[in-house]
Amino acid sequence: MNKLEQYRNEIEDINEQILDLLVKRGKLAQKIGEEKRKQGTKVYDPEREKVMLNALIEKNNGPFNDNVIKQLFKEIFKASIDLQKADHEKHLIVSRKLKPEDTIVKFENGGVIGDGNKSFIFGPCSVESQEQVDKVAADLQNKGLKFIRGGAFKPRTSPYDFQGLGLEGLKILKNVKDKYGLNVVSEIVTPADLELADDYLDVFQIGARNMQNFELLKEAGRTNKPILLKRGMSATIEEFIFAAEYIASQGNSNIILCERGIRTYEKATRNTLDISAVPILKQGTHLPVMVDVTHSTGRKDIMLPTAKAALAVGADGVMAEVHPDPAVALSDSGQQMDLEQFDKFYNELKPLADMYDNNQLR
Ligand code: PEP
Ligand code: MN
Repeated sequence: MNKLEQYRNEIEDINEQILDLLVKRGKLAQKIGEEKRKQGTKVYDPEREKVMLNALIEKNNGPFNDNVIKQLFKEIFKASIDLQKADHEKHLIVSRKLKPEDTIVKFENGGVIGDGNKSFIFGPCSVESQEQVDKVAADLQNKGLKFIRGGAFKPRTSPYDFQGLGLEGLKILKNVKDKYGLNVVSEIVTPADLELADDYLDVFQIGARNMQNFELLKEAGRTNKPILLKRGMSATIEEFIFAAEYIASQGNSNIILCERGIRTYEKATRNTLDISAVPILKQGTHLPVMVDVTHSTGRKDIMLPTAKAALAVGADGVMAEVHPDPAVALSDSGQQMDLEQFDKFYNELKPLADMYDNNQLR
């Protein structure tokens, strides 16, 4: 045997010894984890990690320099801490790793979101009058749809723009719910209004501008109503998932995620629809994912193809704005479909939705 072969054999032996020691260390770490859980102490103790690292550095006489030794042992410590954690500490509540089955959100008036069939939430940007919402609701009922949207509290860019009818708007929505057998979705912008709105709404929407309003998220998490959470306009997917976790952390996991476009340098659309967010969110979480084609594009001429893309990429449903007379709408007048345009949009989208229903093509 030449020298090189001999050294290599020795290295392989040492690898095995290191592995044996790592296994021993891992098993001990698991026992420590169990003990810590019994005592209710935290798994990660930075002080203890520092003491152990310093003791090792003290003993280090090369040939690896201190920083290399530190890096190597930090990796071992980190892996051991992961071993100590219980499953629910390793993964977010909203993550698919913790709960592999899809979350299915069911509603009083018969709707379901996330069961593999495609869902639709249509309705005006803002609630403006009973008559206005009635017109849309009647049309939705005719089409056999189960959800209507409409803002009563509007988060507007300018404080001088129409801010919504508030409680009056909620009452209009409740009338529509009872009259047309629809589930109503409406945005809440402040924690104090959740209680007030509870009697009127079936879904609390949290809008893009409030996706990181952590107090609102936590308070929504203390209700037992489904929450439609929209992605912040400059939020990463990770931040979006953490926002959902804020809600889930308080006990409410009935969350529907909604991709509504993000702000980029592109000016051809109001926002840039991040279509790849849909499969990423579907893979990473067990929550239903919808796509708002109105606020993401701001363009009626491309709403149908983007809605088709959303369904094709695995979204659980589509949201879009519909107004009986968009020209006089008090908000988002340029991007809402009138009933005729909506009819065409829906008639072309529906067959595709039927085709994708029940996971047929997934
Ligand atoms: C809305 O859906 O009414 C709305 C204001 O949308 P976003 O929060 O996505 O801007
Ligand atoms: Mn709008």
